[in-house]
Amino acid sequence: MTIVSYLNRAFNGFSSSSKLLVVFSLSGGGLLGYSETQPNGPTPTSNIEHERLTNKKKVVVLGTGWASTSFLKDLDISSYDVQVVSPRNYFAFTPLLPSVTCGTVEARSIVEPVRNIIKKKNGEIQFWEAECTKIDAANKKVLCRSVINSNLVGKEEFSLDYDYLVVATGAEVNTFNTPGVTEYCHFLKEVEDAQKIRRSVIDCFEKAILPELTEEERRINLHFVIVGGGPTGVEFAAELHDFVHEDLVKLYPMVKDLVRISVIQSGDHILNTYDSRISTFAEQKFARDGIDVHTGCRVLGVSDKEVNVKVKSSGENVSMPHGMVVWSTGVSTRPIVKDFMDQIGQGNRKILATDEWLRVKGCENVYAIGDCATIDQRKVMEDIGAIFNAADTDKSGTLTVEEFQDIIDDILMRYPQVELHLQSKRLSNVTDLLNDTDGNVRKEVDIEGFKLALSEVDSQMKSLPATAQVAAQQGTYLSNCFNKRELAKITPEGPRRFKGTGRHGFCPFRYKHFGQFAPLGGEQAAAELPGDWVSVGRSTQWLWYSVYASKQVSWRTRVLVVSDWTRRFIFGRDSSRI
Ligand code: FAD
Repeated sequence: MTIVSYLNRAFNGFSSSSKLLVVFSLSGGGLLGYSETQPNGPTPTSNIEHERLTNKKKVVVLGTGWASTSFLKDLDISSYDVQVVSPRNYFAFTPLLPSVTCGTVEARSIVEPVRNIIKKKNGEIQFWEAECTKIDAANKKVLCRSVINSNLVGKEEFSLDYDYLVVATGAEVNTFNTPGVTEYCHFLKEVEDAQKIRRSVIDCFEKAILPELTEEERRINLHFVIVGGGPTGVEFAAELHDFVHEDLVKLYPMVKDLVRISVIQSGDHILNTYDSRISTFAEQKFARDGIDVHTGCRVLGVSDKEVNVKVKSSGENVSMPHGMVVWSTGVSTRPIVKDFMDQIGQGNRKILATDEWLRVKGCENVYAIGDCATIDQRKVMEDIGAIFNAADTDKSGTLTVEEFQDIIDDILMRYPQVELHLQSKRLSNVTDLLNDTDGNVRKEVDIEGFKLALSEVDSQMKSLPATAQVAAQQGTYLSNCFNKRELAKITPEGPRRFKGTGRHGFCPFRYKHFGQFAPLGGEQAAAELPGDWVSVGRSTQWLWYSVYASKQVSWRTRVLVVSDWTRRFIFGRDSSRI
């Protein structure tokens, strides 16, 4: 049998709905792998309508980002009628957005149509491409408006009722109300932003080489300013540096010495949320690469020509002429979430607060996951009396070590800060907390001694970072709670209630940190790994490649991303301005 006829047979062996396509392009022929399982075609609308008429609880999910897609992926939809609303009909793998800005990977390689994701649920999840304009918590409905801007006929606005609402709308760029930022800066939050940046970089080069420009004008056009020395700003600076020095200098040799990349950071170091070894490595690498890092500087305003910066140490105001500016200084709450917060009495907060079970505080049956919310962790000191009473089983007014041991698992489950405190104090045994200030073992403590023993634990409370890792874990956690909702009423799996009786249905959400990367260009990366491990250099870049390839949401995007990386290695990045 020839190879061709063998492949023919193999292909015909698969149903049209389950394909493994193998085509790899190498010198006009080749191999590329694609595999996607689609168990059935879309369910007819009549079936969906039928489901709606059954007594399934209605779940409305806002957003198609990290938090919501991981929620949808694992949700058992046999007991829920699920509708998803988002202005974006795709999921974007945001950690690779900086790579899109310079064409290291293509935009379409990092997105997955949301209909592909929900199709796996046999067509029973409905998706509406629209933005939620208002959450009406009192009437348990959301108001939505189509974002399809065209001459297509039909109403644009609609409303959806819910029994449970999952808010996963992410956050928006924080400009800190700095004048000129919205008008003159690029952001790097969405796929469209990355595509715009890619075009602007090329524009700067094309403009800089036009005849009859002075050298100073060429220099200004090729000055790229990045405001924000966090992971996104640093990764973009590194990508841009590679793009310029590996590809563009060959195409625009006459201006290669005029290019300048500046990173403006208000703190004392770039990557200051990382281990100090990583931020030092990054600063040294940028210094070697000729990327100017201006720490301790605050941007006062941006115009089409200049960035005005205040140098904190000298109080001096400096103006930097620029070709383009990328603003990457963190995130803030979206207006629709702010409006919702006003309705439910959270108007004085900056970020929507949930409890440890991701339920929005002050609102029934609404959950919030991902960047749009923060967990308001309960303090041990708020419950200290109740904990003491629950532990003091013989009601003697003092707590013995044995009584404390009986309750400690529930305390550790309910208040994660206790474990962090034990780690920070390097205490191996929880009962060591009861020791007196000189470290002497105490057999029992009264309420005052107990308060003293736990007085420091709340200082370990930290809010979780706004990352994809947190958002995805919250989505998975919440779908698990939804799937076991009925079961948990009979067999609750959470800690005991210190105030009240019985147990909580579920354990509170607990974030597990798997480490974080910082790609620094030139095939070098830094990584902070669990267990206080830090890894830097070329091998870490290869670890980055493998982790990011494995984390892709589908085989389709995995293959596209890996083939983009391969293409870049062989042919370099494409500098066409399209
Ligand atoms: P998003 O992923 O932002 O999704 C929000 C969703 O809500 C979107 O679908 C949006 O269209 C939709 N939406 C918005 N408004 C409405 C509305 N009114 N109605 C309905 N839907 C709405 N994190 C990491 O852990 N590692 C990284 O390496 C990393 N790199 C990053 C690089 C960049 C350039 C950026 C921008 C972020 C990066 N992050 C990284 C952070 C990570 O992307 C976010 O923390 C994560 O996307 C948060 O997920 P989310 O689901 O809360 O929000």
